[in-house]
Amino acid sequence: MTKKETFTALVVEREDKNLVAELKQLKIEDLPDEDVLIKVDYSTLNYKEGLGFANRNKIFRIFPMVPGVDLAGTVVESKSEDFKPGDQVILNGWSVGERYWGGYAQMARIKSDFLIPLPKGMDTKKAMALGTAGYTAMLQVMALEEAGITNDKGPIIVTGASGGVGSNAVAILAGLGYEVTALTRSREASIHDYLKKIGARDIACGDEWTQKPAPLESQKWAGAVDTVGSVVLSRLLSEMKYGGCVAACGLAGGFELNATVMPFILRGVSLKGVDSVSCPTPQRIAAWDRLVTDISHEALDHINKIIPLKEVPRYAGEILQGNITGHIVVDVN
Ligand code: NDP
Repeated sequence: MTKKETFTALVVEREDKNLVAELKQLKIEDLPDEDVLIKVDYSTLNYKEGLGFANRNKIFRIFPMVPGVDLAGTVVESKSEDFKPGDQVILNGWSVGERYWGGYAQMARIKSDFLIPLPKGMDTKKAMALGTAGYTAMLQVMALEEAGITNDKGPIIVTGASGGVGSNAVAILAGLGYEVTALTRSREASIHDYLKKIGARDIACGDEWTQKPAPLESQKWAGAVDTVGSVVLSRLLSEMKYGGCVAACGLAGGFELNATVMPFILRGVSLKGVDSVSCPTPQRIAAWDRLVTDISHEALDHINKIIPLKEVPRYAGEILQGNITGHIVVDVN
């Protein structure tokens, strides 16, 4: 692409207190001055962008903003010794799409420190079929492994199971031989069928999940991957088996946590927080390397839907309403 040619980007501007998102034609010189220029193939849509487009939680910190916390593509120019033209790269998090321009554009300039090489055996489409959702799910599974939760220890429950992170966690854990229970708010047979197709052995959707638990409930789960927080997380803690671990990443149901110390001091339960945004690079690379093999293509096909850039604002509204099953890849071209 020459300096005169234009490319398409989804640009969010603030007008008074409202946000306005529009597809625009930009030139390379319009991009921020970072050290690696990338031709973007795909990005993703996540709960975080849902919050951003709804102007909630101060997700977008600068305006104009090109959102998109993920991207995968090919290096076109690089001032960094770590990357050269032709290299394929992945970007997740590091406040890109929040404080820096992100993946909702055909071209992006990104700090080299934020990039990792696309792992061998993965293409850019698979990388964004996984995206932050798959990578966070993998970090959560690795957290359970580090806590000694092997697949012979008993059932693992995944909450917000039909969402992006949840679906990936179900599929990864099932592929690794864990017995997975998928917790969903949905009573729809089609959602339960979907969760079984991607690897859930059982479905949980009872009313108790909206109710405050006793400090200690009967012991059910060897491990848990939580994306919901709030009352769901307090119930998880009180239902963990002796020595169990909850890996928590999300707040889809609320950020508060009303719990007691009883599961920790009487059952040796641990609660491991998982963050994908500022996760150190070696751990990112380890998670992405695992994703080459540890999730099936069949599951990824069930989980993913591809949308064009122009549809992002509409789907961002749907994801906040909890109306999206699985994960969304954004084809920016
Ligand atoms: P999705 O919207 O794709 O999935 C969230 C799922 O949670 C929904 O599909 C729904 O599943 C369930 N859910 C939604 N609203 C509620 C509610 N009010 N009460 C209970 N359950 C609800 O989001 P993502 O998978 O992208 O993200 C999940 C969470 O993880 C978010 O809070 C996100 O911010 C966080 N996250 C954190 C990361 C980190 O680095 N810490 C990285 C990525 C995500 P169902 O209908 O099946 O119950």
